[in-house]
This record gives sequence, C-alpha cells and structure tokens, in this order.
Amino acid sequence: MPLRTSIAIDGPAGSGKSTIARMLSAATGLPYLSTGEMYRAIALCVLRAKIDPYDGAAVRKCAVDSRIRAVPDGKGGFRIFCGDEDVTDLLRSAEVGRISSPVAIHLGVRKLMVSLQREIAAANDVIMDGRDIGTVVLKESERKIYLDATVEERARRRLLDFKGIVTSYEEVLKDLKERDMRDSGREVDPLRPADGALIIDTTHMSPQQVVYKILERFCMKAGGASDA
Ligand code: C5P
Repeated sequence: MPLRTSIAIDGPAGSGKSTIARMLSAATGLPYLSTGEMYRAIALCVLRAKIDPYDGAAVRKCAVDSRIRAVPDGKGGFRIFCGDEDVTDLLRSAEVGRISSPVAIHLGVRKLMVSLQREIAAANDVIMDGRDIGTVVLKESERKIYLDATVEERARRRLLDFKGIVTSYEEVLKDLKERDMRDSGREVDPLRPADGALIIDTTHMSPQQVVYKILERFCMKAGGASDA
C-alpha cells in the first residue's frame, strides 16, 4: 500500500483545531475530517433514542445500530452519516456538544470510532483533528500537532461560534471546564500531546500565524503535500 500523507491535530475544545485544519486543508489540498463530528453523531443518536450517555453498552449498541460513517464530499471535507441520513448540519448544537463528551469515554465506543478513522486514513490522504489522533488514530504520522489556549480565550472563541444562540460566557466557560476534565481525565485514550508533537499555544496568535508555523515546521508548501 502506498504511504499516505496525514496531519494529526489534537487539543482541547476551542483551541482552534477546526479553523487551523480547514486552513491547512486549503493550503495543502489534503481533505479534512473532524473526528469530533463522529462522536457528535453518536451523541445525536443517543439523544434521539433517549439513551443514558453514561451507559457504555447501550451507547455502543446505538453507535453500531446507527451505522455512523464519514464519507468524502469531494470538496476537501467529509459528510457524516447515520445510516442513510446525512446528519452533518445537525452536529454543532450546544446540546449535541455537551453529550458528545460523556459518550466518548467508553472503551467500546472509542474502539469502534478509532477503527473507522484508521480505515479512512488507510484509504485517503487526510488531516484529522480530535483528542487522540496523534496518540492513537494516526500515531504513525510524522506530522503531529497539539494546539492549546487558555480556557478563558477558548470560551471567548466558542461564544463567537454560538453567535445568535442565547448562551452566556459563564455557561460556555463552565461547559468547557467540564469537557476538559472529562477529555483529559478519562481512562481510555485521554487527551494529551503525542510524543514529538509540535505544541502551539494559540492564545495570542492569529490563525494565519499558527498555520505558517505548522507549514514551516513540517516543510510543507501551500499547494503541495510536503517536501519532507
Ligand atoms: O472536537 P469536538 O468538540 O467536536 O468533539 C466533541 C467531543 O468528542 C469532545 O468533547 C470529546 O469528548 C470527543 N472526542 C474524542 N475524541 C476525538 C474527537 C472528539 O473523545 N478524537
């Protein structure tokens, strides 16, 4: 099998992963998959089926029965399907986001998602972001990035994402702190920088500065995959 090009991006919620991944995708031509959307799709199915998100066996069964898939959209991204339903546009709500972190703590659920994600990476050059991409899903990748920012700055960014939807800075901050604790404190594949990852604190950086630093570090040129 030919060697695939991949970029693995991890970091806590609001650290800039999706913004940076999209810009890297535009610069390099590599398609971008947000693995968080796959966990969000499980959360959506769990909410619809009124399942307890802390019941690992029930959540795993729900994920299997829902046949969650990520399908290349031919435009540099992926669409997320539950069975035959394209749910991509339903995944960004605050409620789905809140439930996505408890559904992601279960070993059986994670094994299922990791195996789907590794299949995608075997078949496609790809940029993936998430919490366990450099440490588990793409641990063989030569390009691992860990983005971080203060929780206050991340809350400020999240509030901008939720523009138009009634929620307060305090609520967003509380939700982020809870998610940080669950993502970093869980037993299975907790959030942490992968060995050798390029760690960037984005608190005081513009997205352009972050992308420039990444392209420079990995000797990647806009418009081509890599010189490495
Ligand atoms: O990145 P995003 O905020 O959309 O992810 C939603 C949730 O899915 C995260 O809070 C995290 O708990 C979980 N997740 C994960 N592993 C990944 C991606 C996301 O546990 N690779």
